[in-house]
Amino acid sequence: MTNQENIIIGIDLGTTNTLVACYEGDIPTVLAENGNAMIPSVVTYTDDGVLVGDQAKANFSKYPNTTFFSAKRFFGKTYSELEEDLTKMPFEVKGDDTSLKFVAHDKELSPFEVSIEVLKEAKNRAQRVLGRNDISKAVITVPAYFDDSQRNETKTAALAAGLEVLRIINEPTAAALAYGLDLKKEGKIAVYDLGGGTFDISILELKDGVFRVLSTNGDTFLGGDDFDAAIVDYLLEGFEETRPEVLIALKYAAEEIKIRLSDKESVPVKINLENENFSIDKVITRETFDSLILKKVKQTVRASKKAVKDAQLSIEEISEVVLVGGSSRIPLVRTMVEDFFEKTPFIGLNPDEVVALGASTQARILSGKERDLLLLDVIPLSIGLETLGGAVTKVLLRNTTIPASVTEEFTTSVDDQTGINLNVYQGERELVEDCRPLGKFKLAVPPMKAGYPRVKVTFHIDENGMLKVDAFEERSEQKAHIEINPVIGLSHKEMNNIIKASIDCAMDDFQLRMIVELRNKAERIIVATERTYDKAYRLMEAEEVEEIKVWIQKAKDALKRGEKDQAILEKIVNTLGDLTLPLADLLFSDATKQALVGKETSAV
Ligand code: AMP
Repeated sequence: MTNQENIIIGIDLGTTNTLVACYEGDIPTVLAENGNAMIPSVVTYTDDGVLVGDQAKANFSKYPNTTFFSAKRFFGKTYSELEEDLTKMPFEVKGDDTSLKFVAHDKELSPFEVSIEVLKEAKNRAQRVLGRNDISKAVITVPAYFDDSQRNETKTAALAAGLEVLRIINEPTAAALAYGLDLKKEGKIAVYDLGGGTFDISILELKDGVFRVLSTNGDTFLGGDDFDAAIVDYLLEGFEETRPEVLIALKYAAEEIKIRLSDKESVPVKINLENENFSIDKVITRETFDSLILKKVKQTVRASKKAVKDAQLSIEEISEVVLVGGSSRIPLVRTMVEDFFEKTPFIGLNPDEVVALGASTQARILSGKERDLLLLDVIPLSIGLETLGGAVTKVLLRNTTIPASVTEEFTTSVDDQTGINLNVYQGERELVEDCRPLGKFKLAVPPMKAGYPRVKVTFHIDENGMLKVDAFEERSEQKAHIEINPVIGLSHKEMNNIIKASIDCAMDDFQLRMIVELRNKAERIIVATERTYDKAYRLMEAEEVEEIKVWIQKAKDALKRGEKDQAILEKIVNTLGDLTLPLADLLFSDATKQALVGKETSAV
């Protein structure tokens, strides 16, 4: 027998799904079977025994009254507290002011007893995937608002499932650990968790590497299921439909549509239930979907606002935002969270897996091992700023030795901007959409003409790999800064993929970058030239100015139609350059010249 090391698994015991993770080598990994990491938190009691997970879900229609799901919602609750919600459940629940039991045949089971079966399956999954029969220790996550009795009952359930619980940790803390935020030592972190049926927002304080929950808020009946229901209602607008077969088919279709709308602007909906004589053929756009769910998403933002207030913090004091839960993939959700917290949230890890991964990280820490944190003596991936046209201007280049410090000067492209957005990206590609957002901050400046502000941006990375970005506008003496750990949430594998993609796409990227730069140049020339028309008529022949106007119009048309042909853009920019050359030296102020040559950050 070989002397195998003692493995501690991490378990995210979820309301809808449960996941198990552990370190494989140096990488935290969720344990999947047949490509599926989720174990549905569903338990069916049949005459012959118990079915768990996918098997229970698959047999739901056979045993609708003895299939129990969402048991976690009932932890620590009494029948009287939940009476209203219980009427919606297909299974029988009994109880009074002090108790709540699920009824299966002649048995009465507590929600914790049902969860024992899910935890047993989690343990068995780990043993099967890892090819071992001695898994007996775990870290388990629970919602931040669980009280001591709910935590103790979770421990007892695990023990009954054959697992010694070395630590119970809060789900938001696990998410923060998965992103390595504990290494920052200090900070205030918002964890926004929007799943299938529940929404939780937690504000954590990190001090000396230890997390403390400052406040929590949320809604135990708000999540992806509501968004599916909103699509069903939309599809049925004008119909009176009560047939369960149709409603169930629509619910499944709605979830698929919703998931596809996270990547696509519109999705065709073709449903044909011949047996039911029911069909739908339409297209649903993301805009429509957004309008259907807006009210619910606003509700989550209101709860977030309350949580920040209860934590007695201001939005500016929140240093990081982490997204958890499958529904946090919805673009509207991301945008609204980002707008509310004024920060790019961490999204590098799979939001379904991040809690389980964090539990395995805690397990790793408990076993006394170091984590794979990509602590290198060089910068593993380039870091830069978003500049005009969605390009990324790299400031710290890949493979630069740490510590390092580089300052670059930027300016604005629009008159009277009162804020300059500084969006920090990581990666080797040329456009923001192909790079990894690291964070963003805003520099408030008094209104000035385009090209007039002189923003010195310093990227400083210290010996521990922490990145500090300072922005200083010299004329107004305004400053702002952000601190980021650029390797958080980045595994060796992901890093290698990023580098590989930059090589594979080098030619296309180069082309795109050229086009973005030509467009930016055209834009700068338009702004600068239009300012000088009056004077131009006095200094040049009228036909010469008219000729400039014709080419300025051509430039505007090209920008409007999103011209991608390099030759056409080059022709416009070069012609305008030649035509306006005599004007430049005669007229242009320093600021205008700067607008023609400087680099601009993205406009606010
Ligand atoms: P969770 O409870 O965290 O497992 O989240 C499950 C919810 O996330 C379900 O309502 C899913 O339909 C939803 N979901 C999963 N992937 C996506 C996606 N790509 N876009 C929108 N919703 C999703």
